[in-house]
Amino acid sequence: MTLRGSLARAALVLAAGLALAGGVRVLRPAPDITETFYVFGTLLEVETRGVPEAQARDAMAVLGAHFRQMHRDWHAWAPGKLESLNAAIAAGKPFEVDPALAKLLAQGRELACRSNGLFDPAVGGMVEVWGFHADTPPEGDPPAEAVLARLLAGAPKMTDLTIAGTTVRSSNPAVQLDLGAYAKGAALDLAEEDLQAAGIRDAVLNAGGGVQVLGDHGARPWRVAIRDPFEWGVVGAVSLRPGEALHTSGNYERYFDKGGIRFSHIIDPRTARPMRGVVSVSVLSDSGALSDAAATALSVAGEKDWPRIAAQMGVTAVLMITDDGSMLATPAMMDRLEPVAGGFPAPITVVDLPKDVAIPVCPAG
Ligand code: AMP
Ligand code: MG
Repeated sequence: MTLRGSLARAALVLAAGLALAGGVRVLRPAPDITETFYVFGTLLEVETRGVPEAQARDAMAVLGAHFRQMHRDWHAWAPGKLESLNAAIAAGKPFEVDPALAKLLAQGRELACRSNGLFDPAVGGMVEVWGFHADTPPEGDPPAEAVLARLLAGAPKMTDLTIAGTTVRSSNPAVQLDLGAYAKGAALDLAEEDLQAAGIRDAVLNAGGGVQVLGDHGARPWRVAIRDPFEWGVVGAVSLRPGEALHTSGNYERYFDKGGIRFSHIIDPRTARPMRGVVSVSVLSDSGALSDAAATALSVAGEKDWPRIAAQMGVTAVLMITDDGSMLATPAMMDRLEPVAGGFPAPITVVDLPKDVAIPVCPAG
Protein backbone atom coordinates (compact mmCIF):
# COMPACT_ATOMS: atom_id res chain seq x y z
CA MET A 1 0.00 0.00 0.00
CA THR A 2 1.53 3.27 -1.03
CA LEU A 3 1.61 6.32 1.17
CA ARG A 4 -1.08 8.63 0.02
CA GLY A 5 0.22 12.15 0.52
CA SER A 6 -0.68 12.06 4.16
CA LEU A 7 1.01 15.27 5.16
CA ALA A 8 -0.74 17.37 2.58
CA ARG A 9 -4.10 15.93 3.56
CA ALA A 10 -3.51 16.14 7.28
CA ALA A 11 -2.70 19.84 6.92
CA LEU A 12 -5.93 20.41 5.06
CA VAL A 13 -7.89 18.45 7.60
CA LEU A 14 -6.64 20.61 10.42
CA ALA A 15 -7.13 23.80 8.46
CA ALA A 16 -10.76 22.82 7.94
CA GLY A 17 -11.19 22.66 11.73
CA LEU A 18 -12.06 18.99 12.03
CA ALA A 19 -12.98 17.58 15.39
CA LEU A 20 -10.93 14.45 15.94
CA ALA A 21 -12.63 11.18 16.70
CA GLY A 22 -12.04 7.48 16.08
CA GLY A 23 -13.39 6.63 12.66
CA VAL A 24 -15.17 9.86 11.89
CA ARG A 25 -14.65 13.53 12.38
CA VAL A 26 -17.28 16.21 12.51
CA LEU A 27 -16.58 19.09 10.17
CA ARG A 28 -17.89 22.22 11.80
CA PRO A 29 -17.43 25.96 12.04
CA ALA A 30 -17.69 27.73 15.44
CA PRO A 31 -18.70 25.26 18.15
CA ASP A 32 -21.99 25.64 20.01
CA ILE A 33 -22.60 23.97 23.39
CA THR A 34 -20.37 20.93 23.64
CA GLU A 35 -19.95 18.28 26.29
CA THR A 36 -17.81 15.18 26.36
CA PHE A 37 -18.70 11.92 28.10
CA TYR A 38 -16.75 8.72 28.59
CA VAL A 39 -18.80 5.68 27.72
CA PHE A 40 -18.07 2.17 26.42
CA GLY A 41 -14.35 2.82 26.49
CA THR A 42 -14.56 5.82 24.23
CA LEU A 43 -15.09 9.56 24.36
CA LEU A 44 -18.52 10.67 23.23
CA GLU A 45 -18.92 14.28 22.26
CA VAL A 46 -22.34 15.90 22.07
CA GLU A 47 -22.82 19.29 20.48
CA THR A 48 -26.12 21.14 20.44
CA ARG A 49 -26.98 24.10 18.31
CA GLY A 50 -29.44 26.92 18.65
CA VAL A 51 -30.63 26.37 22.22
CA PRO A 52 -29.91 28.48 25.31
CA GLU A 53 -26.95 27.20 27.31
CA ALA A 54 -29.05 26.32 30.40
CA GLN A 55 -31.37 24.14 28.31
CA ALA A 56 -28.42 22.44 26.63
CA ARG A 57 -26.66 21.81 29.96
CA ASP A 58 -29.84 20.35 31.49
CA ALA A 59 -30.20 18.00 28.52
CA MET A 60 -26.53 17.05 28.80
CA ALA A 61 -27.04 16.18 32.48
CA VAL A 62 -29.85 13.77 31.54
CA LEU A 63 -27.67 12.27 28.80
CA GLY A 64 -24.73 11.90 31.18
CA ALA A 65 -26.84 10.00 33.70
CA HIS A 66 -28.17 7.70 30.96
CA PHE A 67 -24.74 7.06 29.50
CA ARG A 68 -23.36 6.18 32.94
CA GLN A 69 -26.25 3.76 33.46
CA MET A 70 -25.78 2.13 30.05
CA HIS A 71 -22.06 1.85 30.69
CA ARG A 72 -22.74 0.01 33.97
CA ASP A 73 -25.65 -2.13 32.77
CA TRP A 74 -24.25 -3.16 29.38
CA HIS A 75 -20.62 -3.71 30.27
CA ALA A 76 -19.34 -7.13 29.20
CA TRP A 77 -16.47 -7.49 31.64
CA ALA A 78 -17.22 -5.40 34.72
CA PRO A 79 -19.66 -6.21 37.50
CA GLY A 80 -23.14 -5.15 36.45
CA LYS A 81 -26.40 -6.39 35.01
CA LEU A 82 -24.90 -7.96 31.90
CA GLU A 83 -22.35 -9.87 33.92
CA SER A 84 -25.13 -11.17 36.19
CA LEU A 85 -27.19 -12.14 33.14
CA ASN A 86 -24.20 -13.98 31.67
CA ALA A 87 -23.71 -15.85 34.95
CA ALA A 88 -27.40 -16.87 34.94
CA ILE A 89 -27.16 -18.06 31.32
CA ALA A 90 -24.09 -20.16 32.13
CA ALA A 91 -25.99 -21.68 35.06
CA GLY A 92 -29.03 -22.41 32.87
CA LYS A 93 -31.27 -20.04 34.82
CA PRO A 94 -33.73 -17.35 33.70
CA PHE A 95 -32.90 -13.75 34.59
CA GLU A 96 -34.95 -10.55 35.01
CA VAL A 97 -33.62 -7.53 33.14
CA ASP A 98 -34.96 -3.99 32.85
CA PRO A 99 -37.11 -3.03 29.84
CA ALA A 100 -34.24 -1.13 28.14
CA LEU A 101 -31.94 -4.15 28.20
CA ALA A 102 -34.77 -6.49 27.14
CA LYS A 103 -35.42 -4.24 24.13
CA LEU A 104 -31.74 -4.04 23.27
CA LEU A 105 -31.37 -7.83 23.42
CA ALA A 106 -34.44 -8.34 21.23
CA GLN A 107 -33.01 -5.87 18.71
CA GLY A 108 -29.64 -7.68 18.82
CA ARG A 109 -31.36 -11.01 18.30
CA GLU A 110 -33.14 -9.75 15.18
CA LEU A 111 -30.00 -8.10 13.75
CA ALA A 112 -27.93 -11.22 14.45
CA CYS A 113 -30.46 -13.39 12.67
CA ARG A 114 -30.57 -10.99 9.69
CA SER A 115 -26.77 -11.12 9.42
CA ASN A 116 -26.72 -14.93 9.42
CA GLY A 117 -24.91 -14.69 12.74
CA LEU A 118 -21.89 -12.77 11.42
CA PHE A 119 -22.87 -10.06 13.89
CA ASP A 120 -23.76 -12.04 16.99
CA PRO A 121 -23.45 -10.56 20.49
CA ALA A 122 -23.69 -14.09 21.94
CA VAL A 123 -20.00 -14.70 21.10
CA GLY A 124 -18.65 -12.92 24.18
CA GLY A 125 -16.71 -16.05 25.15
CA MET A 126 -14.81 -15.89 21.85
CA VAL A 127 -14.04 -12.19 22.27
CA GLU A 128 -12.80 -12.86 25.79
CA VAL A 129 -10.32 -15.64 24.95
CA TRP A 130 -8.64 -13.36 22.43
CA GLY A 131 -8.02 -10.92 25.29
CA PHE A 132 -10.43 -8.18 24.28
CA HIS A 133 -12.35 -8.08 27.53
CA ALA A 134 -9.91 -5.57 28.95
CA ASP A 135 -9.42 -1.83 28.75
CA THR A 136 -5.98 -2.20 27.23
CA PRO A 137 -5.07 -4.12 24.06
CA PRO A 138 -4.13 -7.74 24.69
CA GLU A 139 -0.58 -9.00 24.75
CA GLY A 140 0.63 -12.54 24.58
CA ASP A 141 -0.18 -15.53 22.46
CA PRO A 142 -3.39 -16.34 20.62
CA PRO A 143 -5.58 -18.91 22.40
CA ALA A 144 -4.87 -22.62 22.01
CA GLU A 145 -6.64 -24.54 19.24
CA ALA A 146 -8.45 -26.68 21.81
CA VAL A 147 -9.92 -23.56 23.43
CA LEU A 148 -11.20 -22.29 20.08
CA ALA A 149 -12.60 -25.74 19.22
CA ARG A 150 -14.49 -25.85 22.51
CA LEU A 151 -15.97 -22.39 21.90
CA LEU A 152 -17.02 -23.33 18.37
CA ALA A 153 -18.61 -26.56 19.60
CA GLY A 154 -20.69 -24.48 22.02
CA ALA A 155 -22.22 -22.68 18.97
CA PRO A 156 -23.52 -19.65 20.91
CA LYS A 157 -26.19 -17.66 19.04
CA MET A 158 -28.54 -14.81 19.90
CA THR A 159 -31.38 -16.97 18.62
CA ASP A 160 -30.70 -19.28 21.59
CA LEU A 161 -32.21 -16.50 23.72
CA THR A 162 -35.86 -16.27 24.62
CA ILE A 163 -36.95 -12.82 25.74
CA ALA A 164 -40.42 -12.91 27.28
CA GLY A 165 -41.21 -9.43 28.54
CA THR A 166 -38.24 -8.76 30.78
CA THR A 167 -37.38 -12.40 31.47
CA VAL A 168 -34.38 -13.63 29.52
CA ARG A 169 -33.36 -17.25 29.25
CA SER A 170 -31.01 -19.14 26.97
CA SER A 171 -31.39 -22.67 25.69
CA ASN A 172 -27.61 -22.73 25.31
CA PRO A 173 -25.28 -22.15 28.30
CA ALA A 174 -22.43 -21.28 25.92
CA VAL A 175 -24.08 -17.92 25.14
CA GLN A 176 -22.06 -15.09 26.70
CA LEU A 177 -23.35 -11.64 25.81
CA ASP A 178 -21.04 -8.88 24.63
CA LEU A 179 -23.01 -5.92 23.26
CA GLY A 180 -19.94 -4.01 22.11
CA ALA A 181 -20.72 -4.25 18.41
CA TYR A 182 -24.00 -2.32 18.59
CA ALA A 183 -24.21 -0.77 22.07
CA LYS A 184 -22.68 2.50 20.92
CA GLY A 185 -25.16 2.80 18.07
CA ALA A 186 -28.05 1.88 20.34
CA ALA A 187 -26.86 4.39 22.95
CA LEU A 188 -26.83 7.13 20.32
CA ASP A 189 -30.39 6.16 19.29
CA LEU A 190 -31.49 6.55 22.92
CA ALA A 191 -29.55 9.80 23.30
CA GLU A 192 -31.33 11.16 20.24
CA GLU A 193 -34.65 10.44 21.97
CA ASP A 194 -33.42 12.15 25.16
CA LEU A 195 -32.37 15.25 23.25
CA GLN A 196 -35.66 15.42 21.38
CA ALA A 197 -37.55 15.10 24.67
CA ALA A 198 -35.49 18.03 25.98
CA GLY A 199 -36.64 20.16 23.07
CA ILE A 200 -33.34 20.07 21.20
CA ARG A 201 -33.78 19.91 17.46
CA ASP A 202 -30.23 20.26 16.20
CA ALA A 203 -27.33 18.28 17.60
CA VAL A 204 -24.51 15.97 16.66
CA LEU A 205 -23.31 13.02 18.74
CA ASN A 206 -19.84 11.75 17.95
CA ALA A 207 -18.42 8.65 19.60
CA GLY A 208 -15.20 7.23 18.19
CA GLY A 209 -16.37 5.56 15.01
CA GLY A 210 -20.04 6.46 15.32
CA VAL A 211 -21.89 9.66 14.60
CA GLN A 212 -25.57 10.47 14.78
CA VAL A 213 -27.32 13.75 14.09
CA LEU A 214 -30.50 15.56 14.94
CA GLY A 215 -31.65 18.24 12.55
CA ASP A 216 -28.93 20.28 10.93
CA HIS A 217 -26.35 22.95 11.60
CA GLY A 218 -28.39 25.97 10.57
CA ALA A 219 -28.22 26.54 6.85
CA ARG A 220 -26.06 23.48 6.26
CA PRO A 221 -26.18 19.85 7.27
CA TRP A 222 -23.88 18.28 9.84
CA ARG A 223 -20.90 17.08 7.86
CA VAL A 224 -18.64 14.26 9.00
CA ALA A 225 -15.48 12.77 7.61
CA ILE A 226 -14.59 9.09 7.42
CA ARG A 227 -11.10 8.46 8.66
CA ASP A 228 -8.50 6.90 6.42
CA PRO A 229 -7.59 3.65 8.20
CA PHE A 230 -4.09 3.62 6.74
CA GLU A 231 -2.86 7.02 7.73
CA TRP A 232 -3.63 10.37 9.24
CA GLY A 233 -6.31 11.80 7.00
CA VAL A 234 -9.80 11.17 5.71
CA VAL A 235 -11.17 9.14 2.82
CA GLY A 236 -14.17 11.37 2.26
CA ALA A 237 -16.98 13.27 3.94
CA VAL A 238 -20.71 12.73 4.25
CA SER A 239 -23.34 15.39 4.88
CA LEU A 240 -25.74 13.70 7.25
CA ARG A 241 -29.48 14.18 6.94
CA PRO A 242 -31.55 14.66 10.09
CA GLY A 243 -31.73 11.42 12.08
CA GLU A 244 -28.98 9.61 10.18
CA ALA A 245 -26.24 7.53 11.79
CA LEU A 246 -22.84 6.68 10.32
CA HIS A 247 -20.77 3.95 11.96
CA THR A 248 -17.35 2.65 11.09
CA SER A 249 -15.89 -0.65 12.23
CA GLY A 250 -12.30 -1.47 11.69
CA ASN A 251 -9.34 -3.53 12.65
CA TYR A 252 -7.37 -0.36 13.38
CA GLU A 253 -9.43 0.46 16.46
CA ARG A 254 -8.58 -2.37 18.86
CA TYR A 255 -6.11 -5.06 17.88
CA PHE A 256 -2.84 -6.69 18.71
CA ASP A 257 0.04 -7.60 16.43
CA LYS A 258 1.82 -10.90 16.83
CA GLY A 259 4.21 -12.59 14.44
CA GLY A 260 3.50 -10.04 11.72
CA ILE A 261 -0.25 -10.69 11.89
CA ARG A 262 -2.81 -8.16 13.06
CA PHE A 263 -5.50 -9.67 15.26
CA SER A 264 -8.68 -7.61 15.18
CA HIS A 265 -11.18 -7.31 18.03
CA ILE A 266 -13.88 -8.34 15.57
CA ILE A 267 -14.31 -12.09 15.77
CA ASP A 268 -15.71 -14.30 13.03
CA PRO A 269 -18.27 -16.47 14.86
CA ARG A 270 -17.80 -19.21 12.22
CA THR A 271 -14.13 -19.70 13.14
CA ALA A 272 -13.84 -18.13 16.62
CA ARG A 273 -10.91 -16.18 15.15
CA PRO A 274 -10.43 -12.49 14.36
CA MET A 275 -11.72 -11.52 10.94
CA ARG A 276 -9.15 -10.90 8.23
CA GLY A 277 -8.98 -8.97 5.01
CA VAL A 278 -11.02 -5.87 5.81
CA VAL A 279 -9.64 -2.74 7.43
CA SER A 280 -12.78 -0.70 7.72
CA VAL A 281 -16.47 -0.70 6.92
CA SER A 282 -18.72 2.35 7.19
CA VAL A 283 -22.50 2.08 7.14
CA LEU A 284 -24.95 4.95 6.84
CA SER A 285 -28.60 4.42 7.82
CA ASP A 286 -31.43 5.93 9.85
CA SER A 287 -30.61 3.84 12.92
CA GLY A 288 -27.52 3.89 15.11
CA ALA A 289 -27.94 0.28 16.25
CA LEU A 290 -28.44 -0.95 12.67
CA SER A 291 -25.47 1.01 11.26
CA ASP A 292 -23.23 -0.19 14.08
CA ALA A 293 -24.30 -3.84 13.91
CA ALA A 294 -24.08 -3.89 10.12
CA ALA A 295 -20.58 -2.35 10.10
CA THR A 296 -19.42 -5.21 12.32
CA ALA A 297 -21.30 -7.88 10.33
CA LEU A 298 -19.93 -6.68 6.99
CA SER A 299 -16.38 -6.61 8.39
CA VAL A 300 -16.82 -10.30 9.19
CA ALA A 301 -18.57 -11.05 5.89
CA GLY A 302 -15.50 -9.86 4.01
CA GLU A 303 -14.81 -8.67 0.50
CA LYS A 304 -16.92 -11.26 -1.33
CA ASP A 305 -20.00 -11.78 0.79
CA TRP A 306 -20.75 -8.34 2.21
CA PRO A 307 -23.26 -7.23 -0.47
CA ARG A 308 -25.57 -10.15 0.34
CA ILE A 309 -25.37 -9.55 4.09
CA ALA A 310 -25.97 -5.81 3.59
CA ALA A 311 -29.09 -6.60 1.55
CA GLN A 312 -30.30 -9.06 4.19
CA MET A 313 -29.81 -6.51 6.96
CA GLY A 314 -31.54 -3.78 4.97
CA VAL A 315 -28.64 -1.33 4.67
CA THR A 316 -27.92 0.33 1.35
CA ALA A 317 -25.10 2.83 1.96
CA VAL A 318 -21.80 1.02 2.63
CA LEU A 319 -18.11 1.79 2.14
CA MET A 320 -15.55 -0.99 2.59
CA ILE A 321 -11.77 -0.65 2.60
CA THR A 322 -9.80 -3.88 2.32
CA ASP A 323 -6.30 -4.81 3.48
CA ASP A 324 -4.78 -3.98 0.12
CA GLY A 325 -6.33 -0.50 0.11
CA SER A 326 -9.17 -1.26 -2.31
CA MET A 327 -12.24 0.87 -1.74
CA LEU A 328 -15.67 -0.58 -2.49
CA ALA A 329 -18.94 1.31 -2.16
CA THR A 330 -22.59 0.84 -2.89
CA PRO A 331 -24.30 3.28 -5.29
CA ALA A 332 -26.19 4.77 -2.32
CA MET A 333 -22.89 5.50 -0.54
CA MET A 334 -21.34 6.90 -3.73
CA ASP A 335 -24.25 9.36 -3.96
CA ARG A 336 -23.37 10.66 -0.50
CA LEU A 337 -19.60 10.41 -0.27
CA GLU A 338 -17.85 13.71 -0.99
CA PRO A 339 -14.15 13.87 -1.75
CA VAL A 340 -12.10 15.97 0.65
CA ALA A 341 -8.91 17.70 -0.42
CA GLY A 342 -9.30 17.20 -4.13
CA GLY A 343 -10.22 13.57 -4.47
CA PHE A 344 -10.57 10.14 -2.95
CA PRO A 345 -7.35 8.46 -1.82
CA ALA A 346 -7.93 5.54 -4.21
CA PRO A 347 -10.37 4.75 -7.01
CA ILE A 348 -13.67 3.46 -5.63
CA THR A 349 -15.27 0.35 -7.14
CA VAL A 350 -19.05 0.62 -7.15
CA VAL A 351 -20.73 -2.60 -6.03
CA ASP A 352 -24.46 -3.14 -6.53
CA LEU A 353 -26.35 -4.96 -3.81
CA PRO A 354 -28.16 -8.11 -4.93
CA LYS A 355 -31.90 -7.59 -5.35
CA ASP A 356 -33.08 -11.14 -4.93
CA VAL A 357 -31.71 -12.13 -1.53
CA ALA A 358 -33.87 -14.18 0.77
CA ILE A 359 -34.29 -12.23 4.01
CA PRO A 360 -33.76 -14.66 6.91
CA VAL A 361 -36.93 -15.35 8.84
CA CYS A 362 -36.22 -14.57 12.46
CA PRO A 363 -38.80 -16.14 14.73
CA ALA A 364 -39.66 -13.92 17.67
CA GLY A 365 -38.27 -15.47 20.80
P1 AMP B 1 -17.43 -2.74 16.43
O1 AMP B 1 -16.28 -1.84 16.75
O2 AMP B 1 -18.75 -2.05 16.43
O3 AMP B 1 -17.22 -3.53 15.18
O4 AMP B 1 -17.58 -3.78 17.64
C1 AMP B 1 -16.54 -4.65 17.97
C2 AMP B 1 -16.80 -5.23 19.34
O5 AMP B 1 -17.94 -6.10 19.30
C3 AMP B 1 -15.65 -6.09 19.85
O6 AMP B 1 -14.76 -5.34 20.63
C4 AMP B 1 -16.37 -7.15 20.66
O7 AMP B 1 -16.65 -6.67 21.94
C5 AMP B 1 -17.68 -7.34 19.92
N1 AMP B 1 -17.62 -8.33 18.82
C6 AMP B 1 -16.54 -8.85 18.20
N2 AMP B 1 -16.89 -9.67 17.19
C7 AMP B 1 -18.25 -9.66 17.16
C8 AMP B 1 -19.21 -10.29 16.32
N3 AMP B 1 -18.87 -11.08 15.29
N4 AMP B 1 -20.52 -10.05 16.57
C9 AMP B 1 -20.90 -9.25 17.61
N5 AMP B 1 -20.04 -8.65 18.43
C10 AMP B 1 -18.73 -8.81 18.21
MG1 MG C 1 -20.37 -2.20 15.22
